[in-house]
Amino acid sequence: MRTTSYGLLTLRVLLLVATAFNTAVAFGSQTQVAETASKTLPEAWVVQASAGLDPRAVDALQRILGSDRRLLALSAYLRAGDTLAERWSWSRQQLSNYPATPEAKAASADIDAVVGAFAAANFGFTLQVNRKPRSLEIQIARWNLDESVGTAAAALVAALEQRFTGNPSTPNTDQLQKALMEWKPRVATALAAPGLSAHGQGRAFDFQVERAGQVIAGVDVALASQQWGAAGWTQKLRAAVSAGGNHFAGPLQSPFEPWHYSYVPRPATSDGSR
Ligand SMILES: [Zn+2]
Repeated sequence: MRTTSYGLLTLRVLLLVATAFNTAVAFGSQTQVAETASKTLPEAWVVQASAGLDPRAVDALQRILGSDRRLLALSAYLRAGDTLAERWSWSRQQLSNYPATPEAKAASADIDAVVGAFAAANFGFTLQVNRKPRSLEIQIARWNLDESVGTAAAALVAALEQRFTGNPSTPNTDQLQKALMEWKPRVATALAAPGLSAHGQGRAFDFQVERAGQVIAGVDVALASQQWGAAGWTQKLRAAVSAGGNHFAGPLQSPFEPWHYSYVPRPATSDGSR
């Protein structure tokens, strides 16, 4: 943290000094500043823009690799605002308690109904569903490796650098947080920021189509239109969800994931459980 503040101060001083010198000297100084900035600024921005963030989100940021992927997650955390706490992925304790809860039992029965309706309407094909919520650790591990996250994170850093490096001056925290919240990737990432996946609370389920144990339509964004659209599985899954009692909302539209449905627990179940 100290090194970071010192780095920013040094940068500001260097920029002031650079403008005071003659053109040739100023050019030389600014090149050096730009080189230093490209290494240190994104990490400084992570620290600066994390001010006031939920401690669980701060902890998740520390386990994300690279300041570019951290900034991208941070932009999602800032956008989540007051909803972050209620959306945050379950703790280990909550995860291990989940299977015995009335909601888990209701979800399991509702999934069975969709699977049954699908099998009845599509002879020889079955639906596979991952019924276990996705832990924060798994979400972080995937975020650290995912290519679409890497691409979006690099674009975010490039946009911030374009906006905030060079004259005049560094952003204050409000300006930086606002810039992070307003930025949107051109193509939606394949993953929600770690901690904010609906899968982290057992409220989202991915259905994939199989035949004799072989995946026919899977959970790969790059293959979505090829595997799902062309063969009509998007509509067939939607029909099975309706026939199974319509307890799921979806599929997810951005990014387009025809297999991803949100679970909408019945109010009676949660009221009755407490
Ligand atoms: Zn999903």
